Amino acid sequence: MKFLCIGRNYVEHVKELGNEVPEEPVVFIKPKSALLQPNTPFYYPEFTNELHYECELLLRICKNGKYIQERSAKNYYDAITVGIDFTARDIQSELKKKGLPWEKAKAWDNSAIVGAWQPIGAGWDKKNVAFSMKKNGELVQQGNSRDMIHGFDAIVAHLSNYFSLNIGDVIFTGTPKGVGECVVGDELEGFLADKSMFKLMIQ
Ligand code: MG
Repeated sequence: MKFLCIGRNYVEHVKELGNEVPEEPVVFIKPKSALLQPNTPFYYPEFTNELHYECELLLRICKNGKYIQERSAKNYYDAITVGIDFTARDIQSELKKKGLPWEKAKAWDNSAIVGAWQPIGAGWDKKNVAFSMKKNGELVQQGNSRDMIHGFDAIVAHLSNYFSLNIGDVIFTGTPKGVGECVVGDELEGFLADKSMFKLMIQ
């Protein structure tokens, strides 16, 4: 199992970090060890002084595939939720300056928070999936799949040109604007529409 992650997929978020809007998806991977197991405490990592949350829509892969066409991509995922792509922003900024890979900023143990999976029904509107996150009860991020630069099916097709997709893999589809810092004691709660998908306390 692996996490396939898309970066810079919402114009307003690209701008807030001073990046350029990419022509093709920005991709990185987190290993299986990045998953915070359910009912496990999340501890602020000792190697960063600038821990950022990035709340994102997540897709769950339900069928093995490679070189998937965009028109058939919908057959390869069966559930959606929200999660957090935790990022050590100070480390990422240093790596970006030097043109180095992002793993130390993005792929560390417990950096992937996965909410409760919701099965995707026949009638769902993939272009109108609303989600949000609250920090200490206050709304900090709000997004909708309609604002993604690369939609779900385009992402699945693109990723599968480089990586075999396997049952159980999870795709992080990018974060909307509003990313920010969190500290010990903060409580983060993610919502799909208005339904709570995860609640996490930073310890
Ligand atoms: Mg992200």
